[in-house]
Amino acid sequence: MEVKFVKREELKEKPKGELGFGKYFTDYMFVLDYEEGKGFYDARIVPYGDLVVDPAMMVLHYAQETFEGMKAYRTKDDKILLFRPEMNAKRMQKSNERLCMPEIPVNDFIQAINDLVKVEEDWVPKGEGTSLYIRPFMFATEAGVGVHPSRTYKFIVICCPVGSYYPEGVNPVKIYVEDEFVRATRGGTGFAKCGGNYAGSIAAQEKAAKLGYTQVLWLDGVHRRYVEEVGTMNVMFVIDNEVYTAPIDGTVLPGVTRDSIIHILKDWGIKVNEVALDINDLMQAAREGRLQEGFGTGTAAVISPIGELNYKGEIVTINNFKTGELTKRLYDTLTGIQWGNLEDKYNWTYEVK
Ligand SMILES: *Cc1c(COP(=O)(O)O)cnc(C)c1O
Repeated sequence: MEVKFVKREELKEKPKGELGFGKYFTDYMFVLDYEEGKGFYDARIVPYGDLVVDPAMMVLHYAQETFEGMKAYRTKDDKILLFRPEMNAKRMQKSNERLCMPEIPVNDFIQAINDLVKVEEDWVPKGEGTSLYIRPFMFATEAGVGVHPSRTYKFIVICCPVGSYYPEGVNPVKIYVEDEFVRATRGGTGFAKCGGNYAGSIAAQEKAAKLGYTQVLWLDGVHRRYVEEVGTMNVMFVIDNEVYTAPIDGTVLPGVTRDSIIHILKDWGIKVNEVALDINDLMQAAREGRLQEGFGTGTAAVISPIGELNYKGEIVTINNFKTGELTKRLYDTLTGIQWGNLEDKYNWTYEVK
């Protein structure tokens, strides 16, 4: 894929102080157009800026949109690493297939990320735990209010430098088990990373936030009984020294972090059960002191320990609201590989060149 480069007149000033998450955007963005019959065309890296769109643009009406989330990490010797980018490329193809959108070839997807990050190298922050968050997304651009797959699309990649998710060290969060709203059902779009899934989840998120909870734990959409995932993360629980997480069978997002953690756990000889876990069994295990640890897994936070669950008003504390031993060990191992401080024995990192 040939990528045109349009230089900015003036570069932005880099943010000073706290980076936070998703507040600052870099100088450039990658843009690729698609038209039915013509395919993908006009790959370019251009100054980050406003888009001019038609008010009838189909994504604004029917939400035909998919996205990805990944990071670039700066190593101590100033290499820039991506983490398993081919997994994001393939997942976006699966999401696009579900939403009747064209699939970007894996190599072109990785090249888009590589080339943009290379241009924005100076934006990959240096501080402990900081990284450049990368947001590839694609949306329907055809103008028209009638429901059918759009004939034109835009694929764009934007980046933002982000601070450490845990400036005060890894700390457990409180999770509200949602028993009214549901996120996904089999046959729906739960496995696809699409904006529409999130639009429907904001009401639950708001409800939990009002009660003082960080995120919701989703139960399955049919029985509202089996544990699926947490807002923006997959979720794992340690019960009787074994790990439990929902299987990937249509309703749960197949997380890159989830997959990596499962690999590491199995490598350590720890049993991972990818099964539907009944919320009642989870609560019972907590009451009996057999629920040892719980944590969410996702690119943004890497691993987020769970300190408290609230299900139908019953509150249980996990590991005395402290980060568990296994959780900490997994966090250190995965972040060690991602930032190039530990040997990459699984061959997961990709150097930006
Ligand atoms: C992106 C996402 C995850 C985590 O996936 P990673 O590839 O590990 O970042 C989990 N659940 C949902 C709903 C997501 O959108």
